[in-house]
Amino acid sequence: MFEDNEEKEGRIQLYSRGNKTMSMIQPNEKIETVCRNCVFVAYEDMDDPQLQTGCQAGMIDIYRKQGATFKEYVDSYEKKFYGIVDRICPYWRTKEWAEKQPENEDLLLIARDEMTLRMEVVIYIPPSREVPFVDIGITVDSLARGKIKPTKLIFCDHHNIQPARFRKWITGRCAKMGWRAEHIRESDADFLRCLDLCMKRARERYVGVFTAGFYVPEDYISSLDVALHDRFERFIYLEPVDELNNGMTVQNVLHQFNRGNRESPLIEKLRQKTLEQS
Ligand code: SF4
Repeated sequence: MFEDNEEKEGRIQLYSRGNKTMSMIQPNEKIETVCRNCVFVAYEDMDDPQLQTGCQAGMIDIYRKQGATFKEYVDSYEKKFYGIVDRICPYWRTKEWAEKQPENEDLLLIARDEMTLRMEVVIYIPPSREVPFVDIGITVDSLARGKIKPTKLIFCDHHNIQPARFRKWITGRCAKMGWRAEHIRESDADFLRCLDLCMKRARERYVGVFTAGFYVPEDYISSLDVALHDRFERFIYLEPVDELNNGMTVQNVLHQFNRGNRESPLIEKLRQKTLEQS
């Protein structure tokens, strides 16, 4: 049954996420995506053209398969539509958004393009006798060849390279990727402490980690993008592929929320919380 949405209308809020806007109801602080004003909502029932039958982006079917909880609403115009509990539908777009797009373009493709995963990548430069510029170059160049490039490279300099020398070397090498360098001055810092220092100013949703010298596969970010935005899988942490922590990928907000690797490694805190919740 579709429930009366009259009262709840006051609680529909516009919620900004970067340059995109999501409409949601937040009863009891719960996230809920409401399909009513989405440009991709489908009303295709011949007998009842006010009844939401699905979604042009296929998201209703995906959420059903994932076992999401749906609410059914009816507004004062007798429109019947869904609310998807605990989900922020990444395809949610308004009519105003659609009107700003070029004519005759596929809106679903534009929306998908806007969702492309933005990631920062930490390149850890370990202590060593020689400055490992060759190794740093291997990792930077491999990331620059990626189908999706990191928005920013964060050089985690544990080698103590002179900042001016590093700046001179790196200038012009980061091809369309932003960069910044953190020169670690704590003599007793271990890898996890260095990582915490470097992630303090990270801004993107996910941060990947590689040690200088690792050749990053060109589909590293694009395969995560497909997993997140085409298969709608969810993850908070990816384990590294080797003992040099290559490929470790962390959800930034969880890293910040759990105080990074302070007190104990983040992965142990996450495992503990998972056990407590199961
Ligand atoms: S794209 Fe998302 S918000 Fe829009 S109709 Fe489909 S499920 Fe609802």
